[in-house]
Amino acid sequence: MRYEGPIYRPPSEADSLLVQATVGCPHNKCSFCMVYKKGPRFRVRPLAEIQADLAQAAVDLGPRVRSLFLPAGNTLAMPTAELAAVCAQARRLLPNLERITVYASMQSVLAQGAAGLARLKQAGLSRLHVGLESGHDPTLARVKKGVSSREQVAAGRLALEAGLELCLYVILGLAGPADSLAHASATAQVINRINAAGPLTVRLRTLVPKMGTLLLHQINKGRFSLCSPHQVLAEADRLLAELAGPLGLFSDHYTNYLDLRGALPADQERLRQEVAAALALPREAFRPDFVGGQ
Ligand code: SF4
Repeated sequence: MRYEGPIYRPPSEADSLLVQATVGCPHNKCSFCMVYKKGPRFRVRPLAEIQADLAQAAVDLGPRVRSLFLPAGNTLAMPTAELAAVCAQARRLLPNLERITVYASMQSVLAQGAAGLARLKQAGLSRLHVGLESGHDPTLARVKKGVSSREQVAAGRLALEAGLELCLYVILGLAGPADSLAHASATAQVINRINAAGPLTVRLRTLVPKMGTLLLHQINKGRFSLCSPHQVLAEADRLLAELAGPLGLFSDHYTNYLDLRGALPADQERLRQEVAAALALPREAFRPDFVGGQ
């Protein structure tokens, strides 16, 4: 198997076969993200190369493959016909394949449009992993996400209406202390408006400044402050209080102060009680602040 540049995949795809379809990220501007800042530049791998890797994996692993993830940072930015060809080939060659998933930006969801998404769904694409990060427009602008909350809602609904599963990643603490609760409320509103089109999954992460990022530079210059663990937990509580569901919620990541897992609305009170218990703990009960290296 051939790989180029950083290869990331969501924790939920830990057991997935990874066949690289794209290299880098076409946006590559988010102030908190270090993944592709040193390159390589975004490109789509030649279809023949992707399909050769997939064919080899089918020979090597065949019936053992149940899930397939196609790195890198935004594979939905591929031309529709090429991504559909990869998905269709995977469905043909891997007899026990249950899902095909990619990282996607909301911008790429909108660019694919209803027709493109329907074609990809029909070819076998199952799930989009999307970094929502926040639904708070001032925060989206400050971190250079390149999308508005209105576009997020339109794109998220489009994906669900096409029959694709949607996993949305939210970064707690991304707005800093002053806008913390506004970030939580606006994010809950965006998710609720997307959620009206169908069930989805939300995965929580907590902001950790990364080496070489604009965000770390802003912290070092005194232009941005990290939230304390208690502020992050209060933000999580606001999010839990305002999310309507139906959705699955997970915080399956090393950055988080508390591991929350459940389904909303059924588990809302239990999850909020877990947050309340954590809020009663002293600062020393939580991990220290650190600068991330990956
Ligand atoms: S967070 Fe995602 S969209 Fe933003 S630069 Fe990093 S890989 Fe690209």
